[in-house]
Amino acid sequence: MSTQYQQLCSLVRRSGVLGSIGALVSWDQETYMPPAGAAFRAEQLGLIAELHHKHATDPKIGDLIAACEADKALLANETIAANIRELRRDYDRMTKLPTSLVSELATTTSQAQEAWKHARQNSDFAAFVPKLERVFELTRQKADCYGIPAGGERYDALLDEYEPGASAKEIEATFTPLRAKLAALIHSVAASGKKPDTSILSAQIPADKQHAFGQMILKAITFDLEAGRLDVTTHPFCSGVAPGDTRLTTRYRDEKFTDALYGTLHEAGHGLYEQGLPKAGSPEGLFGQPLSEAISLGIHESQSRMWENLVGRSREFWVWALPHAKQYFGAAMANVTPDTMFAAVNTTTPSLIRVEADEGTYNMHVMVRFELERALLSGAMKVKDVPGEWNRRYKDYLGIDVPDDRRGCLQDVHWSAGLIGYFPTYTLGNLYAAQFWETIEQEIPDVKAKISRGEFAPLREWLRTKIHAHGKRYRAADLCKRITGKPLSADPLLRYLGTKAKAVYGV
Ligand code: ZN
Repeated sequence: MSTQYQQLCSLVRRSGVLGSIGALVSWDQETYMPPAGAAFRAEQLGLIAELHHKHATDPKIGDLIAACEADKALLANETIAANIRELRRDYDRMTKLPTSLVSELATTTSQAQEAWKHARQNSDFAAFVPKLERVFELTRQKADCYGIPAGGERYDALLDEYEPGASAKEIEATFTPLRAKLAALIHSVAASGKKPDTSILSAQIPADKQHAFGQMILKAITFDLEAGRLDVTTHPFCSGVAPGDTRLTTRYRDEKFTDALYGTLHEAGHGLYEQGLPKAGSPEGLFGQPLSEAISLGIHESQSRMWENLVGRSREFWVWALPHAKQYFGAAMANVTPDTMFAAVNTTTPSLIRVEADEGTYNMHVMVRFELERALLSGAMKVKDVPGEWNRRYKDYLGIDVPDDRRGCLQDVHWSAGLIGYFPTYTLGNLYAAQFWETIEQEIPDVKAKISRGEFAPLREWLRTKIHAHGKRYRAADLCKRITGKPLSADPLLRYLGTKAKAVYGV
């Protein structure tokens, strides 16, 4: 191996170490930091971010990448070539942004998040308009610095950060027919007049019992608790802090134990991906290199949605989990059967809030956001028109009236945080999960029987070999073709949702 490549790897490892310190400090802020520590914490995070950016954009890294790119013998190694390709991409993106814009975006989004919190509390969108306008203005500048790909649009430059290689046009081409078919499904469910018994979901289960149950579930699905933790926070997340250190968080509501259960399964799906990435170990010690990182947010989300929904909301899962739930939760679960649980956790009901939406309606929420942010970015729509356009779409797509902006266009933090181009990855995750699952059922024919016996290791092993172990070697679209033999399609998700609607509603 060339000395230049070795030097490059040791430099990016240092960037990775700085990034992991930032991740740990952020995790602490969301979990255990006392409130009075907030001001100094912002200073700590600011310094780490500055050091990280400075280090990652060091011209020396650029020179070493260029030297490696010129070394034909080195590039003959496919693994190294993939690493260099991704290092070039990261370096170019980071150095394309002037420091002044990076810093103005950081300040503006920090203020915009405060403005959003107040506006949301008072359901007062008008108060949020000036800050949101500024965020979109700066985001347009950011996209223009990245450069608009040939034949593409501004949105693509931002999407590329979260879902490399994807384009707004392709997403639109997938979303438009999906929307019509989902609308038909939602309509036929409503027309069935059936209302599954969901009373078990409001059983009172104390948080400590839910926590113990959650830990048992994590062990069963092979999340390594020697290399990870589960803690409590307001907004559940997963952070792959470092090799051997993956942090999950969840939240408990005594009156709805499935919130924490599915939150835990969701974050554990992300966590299993983080634990399966080749970050640690010899001989290469890939930590910090792209080949030890996740492909995209869409693929990351496919892992969380698979464990949460395709596994956790299956009838087979409840065949296995229910006796355990009865043991942990006692009398509350006395007369419950796997069929009751299956029906209760698989209802389809149009609702206002994305994060609480069921599988049948969830993607409609994502589509509304994708359409609006795309129009805002191109200039086809004005920020002040967001509430009207939002409410019109909720009526169109889900048939519901939005009573106020708090439960409408002010519900998500993303835009105030500058996360524009991020929303479609949620639906991409659902699509990838369903398509991977059809292949899994072919390659592990008794996967459902295994789940009903609590044997989750074969599924975890399949995901590890086919997806996790590759890091960023492939683009998401290529990985999908390699694994399933086909490009990404909405059909598997529609088949999956259709089968569920038949089982629960008889439609
Ligand atoms: Zn997620």
